[in-house]
Amino acid sequence: MANALERFLPEGCAPTIASYILEHNVKFRISKSRQTKLGDYRKDPKENFHRISVNGDLNPYSFLVTTLHEFAHLTSFEKFGPRIKPHGKEWKQEFRVFLLEFINRNVFPKDLESALMNYTMNPKATSCSDPRLMLELRKFSKEETAPLLEELNNGELFQFQNRIFEKIQKRRTRVKCRDIERNRYYLINAVAEVKRIQNG
Ligand SMILES: [Zn+2]
Repeated sequence: MANALERFLPEGCAPTIASYILEHNVKFRISKSRQTKLGDYRKDPKENFHRISVNGDLNPYSFLVTTLHEFAHLTSFEKFGPRIKPHGKEWKQEFRVFLLEFINRNVFPKDLESALMNYTMNPKATSCSDPRLMLELRKFSKEETAPLLEELNNGELFQFQNRIFEKIQKRRTRVKCRDIERNRYYLINAVAEVKRIQNG
């Protein structure tokens, strides 16, 4: 199993992930790219195993962080029961323990390491997609990736979910945008991947 995982993970990490998969009885699936999520954790009460899937198109650091993110769901639900918040303090505590295992082995570049620590120490960061963390993780992607909404200039046009918007202005973690056709305003996540449309 470690061999199959090797090409998705930073060097030397595959055996540890393979041992987590065995230890926790996980059906681990490498999934096709999904726009809405990087990974997924599920446990059907009728099944005696857990399911984790991670997108196969992630760069190795994103793949590792996403995998640990999903394992933290598994162990936090196991330890604290199903009623805890998905990204609450119990989850964060578990996520931190998993991350430290790899931080102690110097797996992550320093910038990414501090973004990760920040994320797990900040009690307000409760979503899957912390903007700063997302930006740090994107740096390691090999291919030319789609720009993030926050990388566009105000006034630029872009396509998102088959609609055309004009970027108006960033507000904290979201960006006010105008749907050109409907002439209505929406708030879109600043780290959404969008497609640039050249003006004129
Ligand atoms: Zn999650």
